[in-house]
Amino acid sequence: MDRANTVRNRAQRYGTTDSKQVKTTMYRSKTCGELRISNAGEQVTLAGWVQRSRKMGGMTFIDLRDRYGITQLVFNEEQDAALCAQANKLGREYVLQVKGTVSERYAKNDKMPTGDIEILVSELNVLNASLTPPFTIEEHTDGGDDLRMKYRYLDIRRENVRANLELRHKFCIAVRNFLDSKGFLEIETPVLIGSTPEGARDFIVPSRMNPGQFYALPQSPQTLKQLLMVAGIDRYFQIAKCFRDEDLRADRQPEFTQIDCEMSFVTQDDIISTFEEMAKYLFKEVRGYDLGEQPFLRLSWHEAMRRFGSDKPDMRFGMEFVELMDVLKGSGSFGVFNDAAYIGGICAEGCAHYTRKQLDQLTDFVKSPQIGAKGLVYARVGEDGSVKSSVDKFYTPEVLSQLRDTMQAKPGDLILILSGADAMKTRKQLCELRLEMGQRLGLRDKNKFSLLWVVDFPMFEWSEEEGRLLAMHHPFTAPRPQDIPMLDTDPASVLADAYDMVCNGVEVGGGSIRIHDAELQAKIFKVLGFTPERAQEQFGFLMNAFKYGAPPHGGLAYGLDRWVSLFAGLDSIRDCIAFPKNNSGRDVMLDAPSAVDPKQLDELKISLAADNE
Ligand code: ASP
Repeated sequence: MDRANTVRNRAQRYGTTDSKQVKTTMYRSKTCGELRISNAGEQVTLAGWVQRSRKMGGMTFIDLRDRYGITQLVFNEEQDAALCAQANKLGREYVLQVKGTVSERYAKNDKMPTGDIEILVSELNVLNASLTPPFTIEEHTDGGDDLRMKYRYLDIRRENVRANLELRHKFCIAVRNFLDSKGFLEIETPVLIGSTPEGARDFIVPSRMNPGQFYALPQSPQTLKQLLMVAGIDRYFQIAKCFRDEDLRADRQPEFTQIDCEMSFVTQDDIISTFEEMAKYLFKEVRGYDLGEQPFLRLSWHEAMRRFGSDKPDMRFGMEFVELMDVLKGSGSFGVFNDAAYIGGICAEGCAHYTRKQLDQLTDFVKSPQIGAKGLVYARVGEDGSVKSSVDKFYTPEVLSQLRDTMQAKPGDLILILSGADAMKTRKQLCELRLEMGQRLGLRDKNKFSLLWVVDFPMFEWSEEEGRLLAMHHPFTAPRPQDIPMLDTDPASVLADAYDMVCNGVEVGGGSIRIHDAELQAKIFKVLGFTPERAQEQFGFLMNAFKYGAPPHGGLAYGLDRWVSLFAGLDSIRDCIAFPKNNSGRDVMLDAPSAVDPKQLDELKISLAADNE
């Protein structure tokens, strides 16, 4: 399929705005996307940007573009030499208004919806001139990332960038329709709130009226939505901006958007069924994809880690982990395995033919600093079922046959094995290898979607850095009722009443049943290493509210940017955000962050440390 068609089909699939919805204004009677052969003979007025122009003999052709499409304009030297001369001076991205007659084209272009017609121009108004744009406004632009971000307002003129924003709009409308139909109220919560010590780093904002004091931008409206439940709102949602001062990765931005939801008088099953229904609705409405009637799979966190080494497994393909401790530890003289706390393998179907070079590439991949494995062991299963491995000399043929059978490997398969002294770390490395193999084998099709819930997360995780337990989700998450007694005896084993929705290896949403009891909340803060005074100081507003009849409640937040990226098949959430930040957290278009006027700092009673001035 050609490129123009790909973009157009995508735009159609997501339901690009119908240009007929755009009313006539003083500047135009039609848009650049709507004229067809049935309009031939009509007098029209169009307005838009010059996409490109070409001169052929006595004729000048200009492609005029607006949000809705492109229409070809024709100027004929023989009919109006002055007008044609004017047209020949127009550069790319000039803004024009033209009047003319719709006429059938001689050379039709079936790649454009307006390709059957052109406008014979009788009047031309240049509404604005343009400098030559720094990159071409086309699907495959010649502009690099930095340039596109600096001139993002030009980048957004490109059809594929705009299609992502249109998809985002459609998505938000569908979200509002669904949640409204289920009785959720959309309520805004403040953006200037207090700083809380748990979670990621806050962005802070100095207060002029309260010198020396700071607001923080919300990492999420978590506590506020819980207070709305105490307030009896019962079902809340908000398309909320969240701010986290973290190091950035491809799917992270310092500010991002959540579809934040909370419900009262619900259990985990109630929330899961509501948001599963919502996911199916969004897929159907916005992406035209049927997830089917079946409920999503639910995996416990422990099972997800054991089978896939990840709490967000990509279930578009199998290649599940097989633990090989019983087969390989102590059954031969390979010291690395004999010392390992975990040995696991995956079976890559039909990959026994991998060359030395391909295997070296995989070895380099697992040994790269991002993955950090010590090495990769492989075993090829021959057509006769015999096993040839990189550790042949340490094991008897019987052990290698046992390896093949345990892995359920068939002739022609390739077994890849990692081991390590830290079981969790090794599983995560094997997870990366599984994803890499899935990619190489074309098993991670962007047009296929596989959703599941991961449940029963541990309540806490140990932080080496802080030397204490941290909340794995957040400190307001309730432990599973049956695990509450263990808070005193073995908090590290307590499981949370928490759940994540995962799609194609991406966490698209997560939430939990919350604590609604002041005493239990105080106890959790104690496990997290807070003194009662500090807990009161930081979270007193919430614990006090719980004393006034807090209902049982729970909720979830969907990552809006991630959903839209998945639907659009994007590699980075940046491409569905109108004005994103770069990897150093900068807005290169606005040149922010930037220094401020010393007078502003004086008003805030802030002085900069000498080395920052
Ligand atoms: N506030 C949580 C988060 O940002 C989501 C939730 O628990 O509802 O991850």
